[in-house]
Amino acid sequence: MTDTIDAPVYTVPQERKVVTAIPGPRSKELHERRLAVVPPGVTAALPVYVAKASGAVLVDVDGNQFIDLGAGIGVTTVGHANAAVVEAATAQLQDLTHTLFTVTPYEEYVRVAELLAEHTPGDFAKRTVLVNSGAEAVENGVKIARKFTGRNGVAVLDHAYHGRTNLTMAMNFKAAPYATGFGPLAGDVYRAPNSYPYHDGLSGAEAAARTINYLEKTVGAADLACLVVEPIQGEGGFVVPAEGYLPALQAWCTEKGIVFIADEIQSGMARTGEYFASTHFGLVPDMVLSAKGIAGGLPLAGVTGRAEIMDSAQPGGLGGTFGGNPVAAAAAVAVFEQIESASLLAEADRIGATLLAGLTALQEKYDVIGDVRGRGAMIAIELVEPGTASTTKTPHAEAVNAIVAHCAQNGVLALNAGTYGNVLRFLPSLAISDELLLDALSVIDEALAQLSA
Ligand SMILES: *Cc1c(COP(=O)(O)O)cnc(C)c1O
Repeated sequence: MTDTIDAPVYTVPQERKVVTAIPGPRSKELHERRLAVVPPGVTAALPVYVAKASGAVLVDVDGNQFIDLGAGIGVTTVGHANAAVVEAATAQLQDLTHTLFTVTPYEEYVRVAELLAEHTPGDFAKRTVLVNSGAEAVENGVKIARKFTGRNGVAVLDHAYHGRTNLTMAMNFKAAPYATGFGPLAGDVYRAPNSYPYHDGLSGAEAAARTINYLEKTVGAADLACLVVEPIQGEGGFVVPAEGYLPALQAWCTEKGIVFIADEIQSGMARTGEYFASTHFGLVPDMVLSAKGIAGGLPLAGVTGRAEIMDSAQPGGLGGTFGGNPVAAAAAVAVFEQIESASLLAEADRIGATLLAGLTALQEKYDVIGDVRGRGAMIAIELVEPGTASTTKTPHAEAVNAIVAHCAQNGVLALNAGTYGNVLRFLPSLAISDELLLDALSVIDEALAQLSA
């Protein structure tokens, strides 16, 4: 007898296919319409208009199919139009679309809070507030940490990204494009050096001592409400800190009464082969922020924290009209179920192994690949100017742009990242097959060969 696992149902063949110029004529038409009514501040990395998506493949309005290495920036982690998520959300739509949880509550919100309490690190009483976006989760996390500690200071790290609201744009490392001209920025935000092993060569202990010393001198622990860190930085270029760095920061926070907040908005929800990337580093954060992958594409975000911290906010102080919407919450419950039933933690590990092997082989061929790093389905390569890989490691954004452009023309959606735009990130859905990954890597190989020719 053989075990049979139902093969996932994909409504689009899992293959790339290019049938027009990219972008095609219908996409171009739509783009013209868009430019007349949508401001340029809202950009389009690849202006092909998507009509449909399934699993790890996007189909545009001209019939081109793209292998999706971005998954809506780590959102459709369970696969585009995941059948279980669609079913749960559809059923919920028919039963209940909205009441406002703070007026008349419903079960799905509570269930998501239970699941987050269960799957975030730490075996203690937790509470969760659900909101609509990652930035809103960051805002709420900081708000609650301030209330709990009675302090104002917010510490963040170099190369961080936390969102586009007023507070979060002050927390980002990059002023341009996120904050330039949009001030005044929120005060009491302090940025410290991070751990970036490829560039700083520091051990975790050394990098932590640098971060802590910097914060002690420039702010003082007594004025810090929280330290907000991405365990693996997302927009900053999938920077994986040196071993021991994050636990040392956490120990310092605990000693000084600073709330340690893990922004797991990009790295969480099975992305890295663990429910939350904090687990890779032995971290048990006081608060974990979730968003992106939590509801299979529906807008939902959560702040999950130690009960005593979360309970410090006064009744009426937390919430919002759409926060924890029943349809999004039902989708999130289905996402948690999919992580278990489709063994998605193991799938993330499989994807990581395939990508690391393929990219390490490319690194041996092409000296512009300075670094290969990441965990699970959150892997990146950092590109440097030829001949600088063992010296200055000079950022080579043009190489990334050329690879991204070659990919687009050949039916692969690839994303850049990094403060200097010189990181190519792999953030596919966990539904992507090895076959599709290897096919995408062959297109990247072609692009690198053209570059070095
Ligand atoms: C995307 C992201 C955010 C912001 O989330 P939005 O839903 O876009 O507001 C915050 N932190 C990290 C680490 C992110 O990747």
